[in-house]
Amino acid sequence: MKDLQGIVLAIAERMAKEPDRGHVAQYIPELAKIDPNQFGIAVALADGNLFAAGDADTPFSIQSISKVFTLSLALGRVGDALWERVGREPSGDPFNSIVQLEADHGIPRNPFINAGAIVVTDVLLAGHQPRETIGEILRFMRHISEDDGIRIDPEVARSEERTGFRNAALANFIRAANNLRHAPEQTLGVYYHHCAIAMTCKQLAMAGRYFAFGGRLGVDGPKIVSSARARRINALMLTCGHYDGSGDFAFQVGLPGKSGVGGGILAIVPDVASVAVWSPGLNAVGNSTLATQALKMLSNRAGWSIFGET
Ligand code: GLN
Repeated sequence: MKDLQGIVLAIAERMAKEPDRGHVAQYIPELAKIDPNQFGIAVALADGNLFAAGDADTPFSIQSISKVFTLSLALGRVGDALWERVGREPSGDPFNSIVQLEADHGIPRNPFINAGAIVVTDVLLAGHQPRETIGEILRFMRHISEDDGIRIDPEVARSEERTGFRNAALANFIRAANNLRHAPEQTLGVYYHHCAIAMTCKQLAMAGRYFAFGGRLGVDGPKIVSSARARRINALMLTCGHYDGSGDFAFQVGLPGKSGVGGGILAIVPDVASVAVWSPGLNAVGNSTLATQALKMLSNRAGWSIFGET
């Protein structure tokens, strides 16, 4: 085994000195306040061993990373019927594109762009009150990260609720196209709350293990999803997890990954590790500048690209 602790420490040291840190998300007022000088990294292995460096114990808003977890739950609820309401193709457009949704007749291109995640949330809401669905998602996050301390940041959820006019436009359009079963504001309320889940890099790396280990939390851990489902969600992360930056992320890093506008990225090294990296500054397409750079260094140094070693 490589010296993972040495590698993550070297990465954190390097990132602390990086002058170009991107820009924190401005369109969500609560996120605009976050100090961009933070950086954390955590690597979780099958046995639950963690290698971490930097601000790996600081909670941050997981934002769109929550979409891989809600997708897992929705597939558990309705299985492949989900794909009648959401596509599986990369978008090549910004995560909140309105034009694309109209071109696609209200069937969002994939479950990770905002429109697709709103439909996934709508699936989870069926037969429940919004509060119950939010509770179900939070319980799931606590279970897979083995940490009951995980919370939703109510300020972030409120901040999005007050300013999410674009998401409201998307949800209303989907509803007009008959692909939303609940009132747009109900589905959006749940969506904003799961985006506002706050987690540390360590907690997120632990939570992502089931994608790395055939649907299990570690090699002998409890089964969360089937191995086929874990494999397919990894494929979607590789092709769609970074929106219109997905091709470049695959090119640079070579791992399935999911980003969020809070500056986090969850990356999966199949059969080896689950990795969470966080730095709040974003690049032009809304993915963390330093987290991407750090993952590029990590996959190079550890020889972890799924496309071959070094
Ligand atoms: N909550 C954010 C939004 O709806 C999620 C976007 C993201 O993380 N890319 O805009």
